[in-house]
Amino acid sequence: MSLMELAVVSTNIKHSSNGNNDFDIISWFEEVSENAGSIQTQTLRQILELNYGVEYLQKWLGDFNIKEMDACALESLFTSLVPLTSHADLEPYIQRIADGDTGPILTQQPITTLSLSSGTTEGRQKFVPFTDHSAQTTLQIFRLAAAYRSRVYPIREGRRILEFIYSSKQYKTKGGLIAGTATTHYYASEEFKIKQEKTKSFTCSPEEVISGGDYKQSTYCHLLLGLFLYEQVEFIASTFAYSIVQAFRTFEELWEDICNDIKEGTLSRRIKLPKMRKAVLDIISPNPCLASKIEAACQELQSLDWFGLIPKLWPNAKYVYSIMTGSMQPYLKKLRHYAKGLPLVSADYGSTESWIGVNLDPTLPPENVRFSVIPTFSYFEFISLYWQKQDCSSVIDDFMEDDPIPLSQVKVGLEYELVLTTFTGLYRYRLGDVVEVAGFHNGTPKLNFKCRRKLILTINIDKNTEKDLQLVVESGTQLLNKAKAELVDFTSQADITDQPGHYIIYWEIKGEVEDKVLCECCREMDASFVDHGYVVSRRTNSIGPLELCIVERGTFNKILDDFIANGGALSQFKTPRCTSNRVLLRILNACTAKRFFSTAYG
Ligand code: AMP
Repeated sequence: MSLMELAVVSTNIKHSSNGNNDFDIISWFEEVSENAGSIQTQTLRQILELNYGVEYLQKWLGDFNIKEMDACALESLFTSLVPLTSHADLEPYIQRIADGDTGPILTQQPITTLSLSSGTTEGRQKFVPFTDHSAQTTLQIFRLAAAYRSRVYPIREGRRILEFIYSSKQYKTKGGLIAGTATTHYYASEEFKIKQEKTKSFTCSPEEVISGGDYKQSTYCHLLLGLFLYEQVEFIASTFAYSIVQAFRTFEELWEDICNDIKEGTLSRRIKLPKMRKAVLDIISPNPCLASKIEAACQELQSLDWFGLIPKLWPNAKYVYSIMTGSMQPYLKKLRHYAKGLPLVSADYGSTESWIGVNLDPTLPPENVRFSVIPTFSYFEFISLYWQKQDCSSVIDDFMEDDPIPLSQVKVGLEYELVLTTFTGLYRYRLGDVVEVAGFHNGTPKLNFKCRRKLILTINIDKNTEKDLQLVVESGTQLLNKAKAELVDFTSQADITDQPGHYIIYWEIKGEVEDKVLCECCREMDASFVDHGYVVSRRTNSIGPLELCIVERGTFNKILDDFIANGGALSQFKTPRCTSNRVLLRILNACTAKRFFSTAYG
């Protein structure tokens, strides 16, 4: 097969005959990854040919007759003439599309659907185009990952996945386009059904539960149906790990009601949505025997603080599957608590803008997972980033950076910011994620997700990313755990309302802890920031002592509710690890029950 055919066949795999499905998709990926560099050049050519003459490209490429050009020459021309962009640069174009301009602005094919991305925001969701290609690549990466997973953890065909997945409400923009999160569009698409058929695993909940639009009602029904069908459940999944932890925390509170519904074949009155009620009641029937089994298991689990909840209630589950990297890492501890020894398999790497890489080694612990880039999905460029001053062309925030390089030139051990050119009309778009090249799968790089590039905590010369904050919080949490308490969630703020400015870390905790322990946690965290700028500023008191605010139980649920009320979906939710958002700060400050100031640095 020629390289061009390999690039094109990627979206057609869904039409291949069944039976040897896994083999087909794995051998396809082995081939494209072998030739990743040339496939990338072809992928760019395909994108540019499809969108030849659109307003945005015309602006930069003018009248070059790209169809006559050789693919390598086209790649050089494209990267030399089309500038790097951020979402802000493309926003005016996307806004015109949202307002109903159907002309060829970013793509030749009119965009009819927009997705809301949270990944690239500073607290505000942003629109990015969604096309058939988006749904097809979602299907493809899910199938690919499932094929690699089933080689290590085979599952029984035709059985169930207990999936904590949620659609947001879809709505119409001023110009009549459908808007919602990318996962919402995917769950509503044909590809979602095809994926279940091709991977021969079916979600426990019907569409009415997934798309109900009220995450509390959906979570209750996911749990109820997951237990009703417990014998068939082969694995537990969600998009981001947060949703699984959130669901089981809910279960700890509501298990008695769920047991009662299973016993009687009824549905709690807290489920108010008529379509959801009907769909669930059509599935369940009274099962007193199962209810008493679950009841006994829950009583035992309760005495163990719900340790091993998953294998106890779903004895046939082979693993837990979800994105557990990046900002989801803080939930791993709780997930491991619920999963006991069951493998935690970290899901793939992508964004609303494009899928990026697949986890080919499901046995790796989530801390070490690496994502192999799929070279047919988008055209990827990599901006080398250096922490220390080197011979570079430009400087942005804390990093020094070089010019972007193509996928074929990346080097193991170096860190890069990702740049995407997509089939959906984003050209040389800076995603804002920092990745490290950890190795290669054939010719395609394997990436470690490091962090979002944007600094989250900075007051003057100090520079801390989400990852830095995460490590600091982990060191404080160790003291908390010794005192038999647990961190439920956290966020932070760089407070500059008074001089000197200082960092505030907000903690929601479970369990009783003495003030002196919390004081010690606060001191420990302050002392754990290793950034030189912070250490120097603390020593000279140009940054004040770290403040630890303990918020009431349920505060982070209020933050989630605010996200949902603004059109977000639970499937996409990532607790902001730092916020300057006034609404969130109002919630956090109103719910602060105790404050501690660090005694580190004297
Ligand atoms: P969104 O576009 O709102 O779905 O968010 C996409 C962002 O989520 C990405 O740009 C990453 O920052 C983060 N993300 C997605 N997948 C992963 C992953 N597997 N590991 C770590 N972070 C991820």
